[in-house]
Amino acid sequence: MKRKTAAVIGAGPAGLTTAKSLLASGIQPTVFESRKAVGGLWSPAAGSVTLNPGMRTNLSRYSCVFPELAYDPGIAMLPTAREVGEYLEEFRRRYIPDECLRLGCAVVKTGRVEGGGWSVGWKEVEEEGGEEGNAEFDFLVICSGFFSMPYVPPMPMERFTGSMLHSIEYSWPHDKLSGKKKIVVLGGSMSGVEVAADIALRVASLSEEERAGIEIVHLFSRPFWVIPRFLPIAHKEDPSAPRFVPDDMLLYDVNGPRKNPVAIDKTQEEKNILINTFISSQVGGRQEDIHPNLHITDHYMRYTPWVTISDSYLEFVRSGAIKPVVGRLESADGSTLHTSTGEITDVDTILLGTGFYSSASLQRFLPADFYRDLTSSDPGIAEDPNFLPVLLYRQGLHPSFGNTGGFVGMYKGPFFSILELQGRWMAGLLSGKLPWPSTREMELGISESRATRISRITARTPEARIQWSMGDYLGLVDELRRTIGLPLLPETNEVYPNTMIPAHFSPGHEEAEKTLRQMTEVLTERSGSDEAKGGILSRAIFKALHGKWKLRRKIVSKHPGFSSGTFEGVAEFLPRPPSFSCTPPPTGDSGASDEGNEHEELSTCVSITITPSTPPPLVHSGEVQEYLYTETGTFTTTPSLAMPTPLTIQARRSYIYRHHPVQDAITVWFVKPEDSSCVDYFFHRVEISGRAKDGKGGWVGGGKHLCRADWYWPRYRFCFNDGGGRGGQAGDGGLKRFEIGYGVKGPKKEYDSDGVYERIKGVVGSGSWGGLGE
Ligand SMILES: Cc1cc2nc3c(=O)[nH]c(=O)nc-3n(C[C@H](O)[C@H](O)[C@H](O)COP(=O)(O)OP(=O)(O)OC[C@H]3O[C@@H](n4cnc5c(N)ncnc54)[C@H](O)[C@@H]3O)c2cc1C
Repeated sequence: MKRKTAAVIGAGPAGLTTAKSLLASGIQPTVFESRKAVGGLWSPAAGSVTLNPGMRTNLSRYSCVFPELAYDPGIAMLPTAREVGEYLEEFRRRYIPDECLRLGCAVVKTGRVEGGGWSVGWKEVEEEGGEEGNAEFDFLVICSGFFSMPYVPPMPMERFTGSMLHSIEYSWPHDKLSGKKKIVVLGGSMSGVEVAADIALRVASLSEEERAGIEIVHLFSRPFWVIPRFLPIAHKEDPSAPRFVPDDMLLYDVNGPRKNPVAIDKTQEEKNILINTFISSQVGGRQEDIHPNLHITDHYMRYTPWVTISDSYLEFVRSGAIKPVVGRLESADGSTLHTSTGEITDVDTILLGTGFYSSASLQRFLPADFYRDLTSSDPGIAEDPNFLPVLLYRQGLHPSFGNTGGFVGMYKGPFFSILELQGRWMAGLLSGKLPWPSTREMELGISESRATRISRITARTPEARIQWSMGDYLGLVDELRRTIGLPLLPETNEVYPNTMIPAHFSPGHEEAEKTLRQMTEVLTERSGSDEAKGGILSRAIFKALHGKWKLRRKIVSKHPGFSSGTFEGVAEFLPRPPSFSCTPPPTGDSGASDEGNEHEELSTCVSITITPSTPPPLVHSGEVQEYLYTETGTFTTTPSLAMPTPLTIQARRSYIYRHHPVQDAITVWFVKPEDSSCVDYFFHRVEISGRAKDGKGGWVGGGKHLCRADWYWPRYRFCFNDGGGRGGQAGDGGLKRFEIGYGVKGPKKEYDSDGVYERIKGVVGSGSWGGLGE
């Protein structure tokens, strides 16, 4: 019997995994891809939407992966887009024979043919006159992606005199942003938050004069949750020293609150409160201490949550670098924006985090009546490009396809597991191994989608608008799993949490087992001398330092030429793109091997090669993350026989703190005396040794460094917010207090210093930059 054939449109993750499943079901796929490489958004090849190659995934590599190919163990927990692209290329090499691929070939026309089947017309994408062709296939699977074109909502903006830029076009530097004083970022979902935080980071690296007067306003219609990329799991004996796991590990725990059987009996409002309470327990609070406009009040707790992911956004808000404003943009006049809640004046640039026109790519190849059927089957209900663009049964099927095809990837949420399951489902249906739902069943499913769409379009208040049309990710996974006959995920696991990841769909497969082993390694609670190891503790600590702190330091000197006293002031860890390149020195003694050799003229600093980065490398591509640390305040000397009257001195000091993800190491660097923003030489490496054994709690660590003629023995203690539930309680990065102390001994100094840093609560900025003394 002749092998059945399928045209697959798109060689992104959806097209690749679908082609693999079709091949396994005995169907011959031809994958058309308009780019010159596979990988879709993750591919380096140009397309209408391409991710910045240095951008890191929001979810861990255990979620952004297909079951039958594990990542190389050397890949960071949150891979870059480039690494995901390379992974997908390897997936293609392993599973999709070359003859199945038509790269650089855009599908421009499709249509049903008599007797079933599809005719597909394509055009080669060449600089000049690519060839055109046409062929018939038994089946058609559309994998053209959800994010096919930037979406700009219809707004009367003709009278706006500034410039507008969509988030997908955003890069730094950008001529629409350079030299601008007031930038308004629009949209309170993933892109708006990410772009606002990135602009704040870039502005932070400008000189004080350059950044003076720059304002970043973030305009959104309702408060949203900001979840950090890593969440804490409280330790039973010392909740102030939690371990950290990537956020998807806790959010997609199959034993999480969604599993609660009583939830079935609850009203939608009660379910919303349950989910919001769960998120609040993970992030520690309701953002009330960050800014009133981000507070998830009792009122918002009753509505479906809006969720974003960022490690730095909240601290930029707290420090005043980003000004959050609730309101909807209604129109513009010159440089003034009119919103539902007031005016924003003197605006230079609007950055649109307004999402994507998801059905746009379909218009290019679907017959007009077919497109209409799929997208807007209700008179009077507008097409809905951004939320639920295509009305489908379980995001995949529509009766118009007549059991000859459907969609994979017309979905928004955690992608890889859904794409894998949808691809398998589609292959099962087309090969006849799985039963098709009846037309009636499909129509019922489609009317449910339509009702969701209408409820969003007709929502009377912004809080009643839901963020995701397919919000119940675990529910969707479970439904697809059952449909294709995969076993239930085990309810218990040897480690906590029991996270749903794609590797569970291929039990026993060598590659799936590899991913599961890698994940178990991260989730396993360590003990003894290993408890601080595991890959992400230093990163979590480093991220939590961001922001302003009240600092009190006591110095006790044993050297007559050096005063004892107390310093009181404010310290700030200001993130910025890495300003130089270097490799962190190895752990241990920071290069100085002999403790007794105290006064040797040795500086490990000079043995480390530092290359200034001008201009600074892209934030995402720089493996390293960096803070400029600055403290300002007053030092008051302790009365002594030599100096009975206390002296008061204004003091300011800077260092550079860096995190090196490959080594998961934090290093500290001296700055140049003549330019306190510029690296001078290496100071020490912060080595976290384990949980405190002195009963005072927290993670403790230290280091040792001989610099010029002086020995330094730094001491660190990081105390996170006390955890209540299993997930711990860790708002504002989780760090409520930390200590840095030094023992110092040299020919001209011998002192002990103990600094205590406490988070300054509430909004500490005034909408402008700098202002350490606030
Ligand atoms: C800013 C941003 C960040 C994201 N971050 C994450 C993340 O961290 N983790 C995650 O899992 N997901 C993330 N995603 C979602 C991402 O879209 C999915 O991971 C994944 O790319 C979806 O795969 P896909 O194959 O459905 O679509 P795509 O990757 O968009 O691939 C579709 C392909 O179809 C091709 N195509 C379209 N029309 C035609 C045509 N007519 N002819 C031929 N080819 C065509 C396109 O060129 C494209 O290559 C992010 C998305 C965006 C926009």
